[in-house]
Amino acid sequence: MKARFRAHEGRKYMEYQSFLIKYAEIGIKGKNRYLFEDALVKQINHALKSVDGGFLVSKESGRIYAQASKPFDYDEAVEALKKVFGIAAICPMVQVEDKGYADLKEQVKEYIDQVYPDKRFTFKVAARRANKHYPIGSEQINRDLGEVILETFPETKVDVHNPDVLLRVEVRQKINIFSQTIAGPGGMPVGTNGKAMLLLSGGIDSPVAGYMIAKRGVRLEAVYFHAPPYTSDRAKQKVIDLAKLVSRYAGPVLLHIVNFTDIQLYIYDQCPHEELTIIMRRYMMRIAERIAEANHCHGLITGESIGQVASQTMQSLAATDDACSMPVFRPVIGFDKQEIVDVAERIGTFETSIQPFEDCCTIFVAKHPVTKPNLGIIRRSEENLAEKIDELVETAMGTVETIWCR
Ligand code: ATP
Ligand code: MG
Repeated sequence: MKARFRAHEGRKYMEYQSFLIKYAEIGIKGKNRYLFEDALVKQINHALKSVDGGFLVSKESGRIYAQASKPFDYDEAVEALKKVFGIAAICPMVQVEDKGYADLKEQVKEYIDQVYPDKRFTFKVAARRANKHYPIGSEQINRDLGEVILETFPETKVDVHNPDVLLRVEVRQKINIFSQTIAGPGGMPVGTNGKAMLLLSGGIDSPVAGYMIAKRGVRLEAVYFHAPPYTSDRAKQKVIDLAKLVSRYAGPVLLHIVNFTDIQLYIYDQCPHEELTIIMRRYMMRIAERIAEANHCHGLITGESIGQVASQTMQSLAATDDACSMPVFRPVIGFDKQEIVDVAERIGTFETSIQPFEDCCTIFVAKHPVTKPNLGIIRRSEENLAEKIDELVETAMGTVETIWCR
């Protein structure tokens, strides 16, 4: 049932002043729970900063409240909260002053009237009396408010087992009224599980991979291998745009842009062309790992999926892994392309990913790349690079451009 609020133009209306935020998984973290709660509060604060409402975010016995101090754009606030990992559900809440029982009944009538324009629903009232000085018990409140709603809106019906609308009334210093539950993204608050380096290309897969790891509470940095003039500034801008899109969920992403041209050309000159992609990818991993180490990351992330292309067969993945010692996280490894596309569309990266700008890998690809690289042979081919590769890698490392994407 869709909420309609501020529905009656020109008439005094109630407003959601705050959100009750429920979290799931972080509730089970025992002694460390407060760390997770604090991280979630921080992320919520960060997300709501862009929404003009002056929100006060606080935690209170297993719950988090975000309370606006002035009128705010409801849709914007909900959109922002829907991107905060760790949130299981968002309940928009109306807070009314305790002006006596008769007034509470009026407020509840008003709430139902405004939130549910269509009154053909079943409901149940679930009151909680947290303020023990309140003169009426919760069972009595349930019965009385139920009666008021039935009398005022005769199309409604009570269903205590499976109601369409579960109306919660919490009596504290003020009284909280809420009944809507908007699903959050789940996961864990970013910042609670260390940091990893995402190899971000301009494609569909790597932004999704970054999103998925960030969802588990991991902060992201990203590295992009740029090969001018073979890849254009527009290709680079596309990667920056993708990093910004991912940052809406993951928080600010520091993007490291590596000039990879000379390394690629050198590999092209010195190594068998069918091994080019694999050797190039091995150098990407090596460089990504060094940048990751220097920036305190605990792993690398790629958008690889088994069998998607020649460089993603089991043997190719093993050859890629062999080039670095950090764990490589590949969250879409078992996904079909369409499943990755579905996530990309949902998180809003797809449209940007499919812009047709060249990718540094596609320019140097061989007609018949090896699909089952033999590690011994690959290592031997890499010996052809002995003369200049270290120097080229040092130069690439020394000329990295970094951009904050947010
Ligand atoms: P994507 O859609 O993420 O570009 P892809 O299907 O095009 O993936 P590949 O080009 O083989 O696959 O790349 C596999 C992974 O290697 C990518 O998901 C990404 O993590 C990383 N990668 C590839 N090219 C680059 C690049 N130029 N800069 C940074 N990472 C890259
Ligand atoms: Mg790609």
